[in-house]
Amino acid sequence: MSMEFVLGDLIDLSSWQLDRYAEDFSTLFVEYQNIKEQLDHALREGPRAREIRRNIKVLLSGMADMGVVVTDCNGIIRKASPAIAGLLGADPNSIHGLSLGRFVIDADRQVIGDLVLTLGREATDVRLTSIGGVALFGRVLRVPDPEQGYRITWLLRMAEAVAGDTGQRGALFSQLYARSTNGIMVTDAWGTILSTNPAFTEITGYAEAEVLGKTPALLSSGRHDGEFYRRMWQSLADTGEWQGEIWNRRKNGEIYLEWLHILATSDDQGSPVDYIAMFYDVGHFSSDRDRIYELANHDSLTGLPNRALCKDRLQQAIAQARRVGGSVGLLFIDLDRFKEINDTLGHAVGDQVLMDFSWRLVHAVRDTDTAARLGGDEFVVIAPGLASEDDIRIVAQKIIDSLAVPFVIDGRDLYVGASVGVAVYPAHGDSADELLRQADTAMYAAKGDGGNACHFFDDTLERRRAQRLDIEGGLRRALAQGQLRLVYQPQVAVGDARLVGVEALLRWDRPGHGVVPPDQFIPLAEATGLILPIGEWVLRAACLQLAAWRDAGLPSLRMAVNVAARQLNDVDFVSRVMAILEETATPPGNLEIEITESQLMERMHTGLDNLKQLRALGVAVAVDDFGTGYSSLGRVQSLPIDRIKIDKSFVVDLNVNGDSYAIAHAIVAMALALRLEVIAEGVELQEQADLLAGIRCHEFQGYLFGKPLPPEEIAVLLQRMKGDAPC
Ligand code: C2E
Ligand code: CA
Ligand code: CA
Repeated sequence: MSMEFVLGDLIDLSSWQLDRYAEDFSTLFVEYQNIKEQLDHALREGPRAREIRRNIKVLLSGMADMGVVVTDCNGIIRKASPAIAGLLGADPNSIHGLSLGRFVIDADRQVIGDLVLTLGREATDVRLTSIGGVALFGRVLRVPDPEQGYRITWLLRMAEAVAGDTGQRGALFSQLYARSTNGIMVTDAWGTILSTNPAFTEITGYAEAEVLGKTPALLSSGRHDGEFYRRMWQSLADTGEWQGEIWNRRKNGEIYLEWLHILATSDDQGSPVDYIAMFYDVGHFSSDRDRIYELANHDSLTGLPNRALCKDRLQQAIAQARRVGGSVGLLFIDLDRFKEINDTLGHAVGDQVLMDFSWRLVHAVRDTDTAARLGGDEFVVIAPGLASEDDIRIVAQKIIDSLAVPFVIDGRDLYVGASVGVAVYPAHGDSADELLRQADTAMYAAKGDGGNACHFFDDTLERRRAQRLDIEGGLRRALAQGQLRLVYQPQVAVGDARLVGVEALLRWDRPGHGVVPPDQFIPLAEATGLILPIGEWVLRAACLQLAAWRDAGLPSLRMAVNVAARQLNDVDFVSRVMAILEETATPPGNLEIEITESQLMERMHTGLDNLKQLRALGVAVAVDDFGTGYSSLGRVQSLPIDRIKIDKSFVVDLNVNGDSYAIAHAIVAMALALRLEVIAEGVELQEQADLLAGIRCHEFQGYLFGKPLPPEEIAVLLQRMKGDAPC
């Protein structure tokens, strides 16, 4: 199998060939993984890492002359690393329960006493004598402990090298500790720092006194997630060792990459007593500079250039094109349905898809092109010299076609698509940022077309985008500046056309733009979350209006208010509605909530709960735009609703289209069977009203009976009703 294997050449293959191709592909992938692993291995085995490995062995043997003990506040040993018994000259089998305090020399007893009784400082150095009379040094720390209030941790080592084998080892150890260019840190089982060497200070910028009693978390860069540390601790628990690269932060805030090797020692019961960590600053060594550059500029998952390097390359390509009067094509690629895979099958599978895709992407483009990953499932291809639309379309199509074959992961076939947006220098912009933005906009348009498509940037896209931003900005101010108002459309009873209710409809009086209809801003308000404050304003304004009509002595009527799914799914929705009803003294029975059929059919637990609670309070629920969603009869039956609003699209041609009539008829029949009320919206003609009355619809709403009206005009209608009423 040659590495020049071009995926795009494999478009017109028969199905058995496709199977073979999938097999070849996985062979290739395995090959790629092997090479990557070998590379990683070579890097891990670099000269500095090897030195650390040697030194850590010395340190480990040196641990025979050093050890960590944890005692309770009476100085009774609770935990001890293996070397401790030897250091104290005590019997290893009876080390637990021994009083360590009695090894402290008389002159230092007082300081220890103070520390234990929390009178003195949190850390102190003391002198001890072993049973055999050997002088020992001890560093003692009082550390807060969630279980016992506090614990006392001791780091013991021999005061001076004694003759013989142990002595030599001890001397080597002491030298290594003091003079090593590698940073060394000793902690207890809980990670409390007990000791650091001079190189630690040099690398991290922290003096030993500043970190004693703290945990290594103070070095954390925030670059690794919980999973990274979880694996590190797992490895320490399983094998007593961890090594690898880790990004840490110096005292001055600078983030750096270090090679870290940690060893754990455990007591005779196998529980860890101390950790010894040795590390070096990878960037400090010139041979590693390239690698640091590589790490900083490449995406660690796919190995492709990352956003920073991509921008850099794009800028270079633009500069070059400018000099020679050439062009640069930029393709912005976003995977379709990737989120679904990630959410349902997990990140590991998602990562595999991204790796596989990056491999296919690299092979779909020319050697002179740069493929990069911006993050998530967003990739770009920089194609210098590609000017003609046809050329670019061919590349885009190759990328889309490379996804015709599924990714086979864990024996599962996974299909994803790609939306590609294209921007070209100089036609669509002359800076890297501008081109990236335009290509992104074009990609959104491709996505909007249902994905698996390629779109070129054009001005209308830019204009639409600018328009969206403009509306959003204006809408944020609209609420605060009182530019929103409600109009009310009559709802009448079939038969006598008596006014039974109104639907509140939102209007935006936008300075310089006239009246903006809701269709032009509600979807945006929903997307940005602005619908929450706006929706609450609508509810309150509608209820205040009911109160105003009531105060004017007018007959009461039902007020229908449109509610977006996002509002209904808010956990506070019911309490907000209750507060508004109370505040405006509105009887709950006068309020009706309209929610569209399609929104009701989305999975919403909180939303359904909220509807149930509201109905229990007496608030009515209507399903708006009914017939346009996909409710089954069984589903409708189980929903907490009172009324169905037949969508105006079935009413508009009721008199001429047999299908619409049949649908309207079926909806009403179903509603009657379920004992639901039915209202038809968009009734404009008497003929439509007659047909609807014939199939026993209950109520009408539409221009035939009244357009959405300002509140004064509804008041006139109500006044007239009052006059008509029998005294
Ligand atoms: P909708 O809830 O289906 O409201 C009915 C729309 O049909 C209204 O348009 C109304 O003016 C129009 N209409 C009523 N009768 C007729 C008729 O006989 N013929 C025709 N051709 N149209 C008729 P409007 O006011 O532009 O509202 C459009 C949509 O905006 C509403 O559709 C609703 O989904 C949304 N909307 C309006 N106000 C609010 C609100 O306060 N909150 C939320 N979330 N959505 C709202
Ligand atoms: Ca409505
Ligand atoms: Ca409607």
